[in-house]
Amino acid sequence: MKVCIFDSSRIGVVLDDFVVDVTDAFSGIDGPRWPFPKYDWVVQHFPEVRKTIEEILSAGKRTPLGKVTLHSPVANPGKIIGAPINYRDHIAEANADPEINHGKTYDQLDRFGLFLKANSSLIGPSDSVAIVDPDRRIDHEVELAVVIGKKGYRIPEARALEHVFGYCVALDMSVRGSEFPSFRKSPDTFSVLGPWIVTRDEIEFPNALDLELKVNNETRQKSNTQHLIFGVERLIAYASTMYTLFPGDVIMTGTPAGVGPVTPGDLISASVQSIGTMSVRVTQSGG
Ligand code: MN
Repeated sequence: MKVCIFDSSRIGVVLDDFVVDVTDAFSGIDGPRWPFPKYDWVVQHFPEVRKTIEEILSAGKRTPLGKVTLHSPVANPGKIIGAPINYRDHIAEANADPEINHGKTYDQLDRFGLFLKANSSLIGPSDSVAIVDPDRRIDHEVELAVVIGKKGYRIPEARALEHVFGYCVALDMSVRGSEFPSFRKSPDTFSVLGPWIVTRDEIEFPNALDLELKVNNETRQKSNTQHLIFGVERLIAYASTMYTLFPGDVIMTGTPAGVGPVTPGDLISASVQSIGTMSVRVTQSGG
């Protein structure tokens, strides 16, 4: 199933070129009250209402995809986890470019660890990436994103995929510089998720997906998740040695070579096989 959030916080399922509004399937479930839970409400409750959703799909009102505003398909992730150096060709380009490495030599992911991106940086495919500072280099990074579906701590690799709710296309927008990644990868609009979540049952092999990023229709990044150094299972296991993972938590799995700067006016088009494509405009901050 392709699960999306659209227009005024409606929950939808994408069928071909249409969106079916399935929000009513959640009508029997209490909404979160303060203090908010550490999980995303839709992802947490989706399995309980999946049967009702399937009933709605056959008869529900369909709206053409082009007529809806798509938001981040996870509205409230507890955390957005990033993997900094997880494709060999990106490690090579980072080590060759002082604007990326700032004097560091990257080798193994588990020597540098993972990083967190602020939840307030999250947008969806109908929003725009706003350049936070026109004097800084700001790069695109296309990534496969994993959305956690089941709570877990110290998850063994062999059981990791049982903890997955689904997969999205992600942009891990990054200011290049010497600051900690959590600072320079967390400006408003610098985490893009979309265009929807494809549930786990529709992607049997997450470590075998083509991914591609174009800027103004010119290909900049093109790879396959088979080149991930830490594949999806190992990333889940590794992240969960440090954090409990909750439904709705997002892991951006890392970017292949080809990262490069964007400027206001650019159109970024990011695709992952079996998920889809999202096109996101770059604008001036405050614009
Ligand atoms: Mn990244």
